[in-house]
Amino acid sequence: MDFDKSKYKAWTWKHPYILHWMINPGLAFNELVLGQKVPKITLIEKSNKPLTEKSFIPCPHCGTIHSGLKWAYPNKTAFGNWFGLYCDHCNKIIPCIWNLTSLVILVVTFPIWIWFKNSWKEKWLAKQKQKFSQPLNLQPPVYNWWYMGLSFAFVFLVIDSILKFRDFTWKGFLIDIPGSLFTAFLFVLMMKWMIGKQMRKSSKDDAQRTI
Ligand SMILES: [Zn+2]
Repeated sequence: MDFDKSKYKAWTWKHPYILHWMINPGLAFNELVLGQKVPKITLIEKSNKPLTEKSFIPCPHCGTIHSGLKWAYPNKTAFGNWFGLYCDHCNKIIPCIWNLTSLVILVVTFPIWIWFKNSWKEKWLAKQKQKFSQPLNLQPPVYNWWYMGLSFAFVFLVIDSILKFRDFTWKGFLIDIPGSLFTAFLFVLMMKWMIGKQMRKSSKDDAQRTI
């Protein structure tokens, strides 16, 4: 598809992020259960903005270049994209790549789902139309560190309990809480540092450009 090559660079299946999406078997869960999808082409604006703000998704049917933030969490559109990404400009589906494990699962279970596919797709399309008719939030995400830290601690605690399910006791669970909170604190510090570094770099480059 045609796009302004001086303004964007394209990520296709050859890009390491997208290759990872195809190869990592764990991501079949994200794709088949959560409905998280990666488009065949993502355009990255040549600027120093954070990645979420400079990612664009082109629709090959109508040529509209959508902000990637359209499919972000605040719009409740990051998940549930089982049939692909819905273009709210031409009502068609932006093609996505497949995780290889998902493909194998789909081939094996083909005799089960093939009977329901068309009616599911129709219902899904009607739902997308309704979802995308609401005003969409295209603002860059605001980081809520408390929320991020506490949810990290919770997930860490649950995974830790599942891993030692044979020896699980409520007393042990309570003892693990401070450790999980501390790990979450380190995680938030690391994230703050990484995002802060990216922002400092971007404002430094902006300053250099204006000189
Ligand atoms: Zn379109």
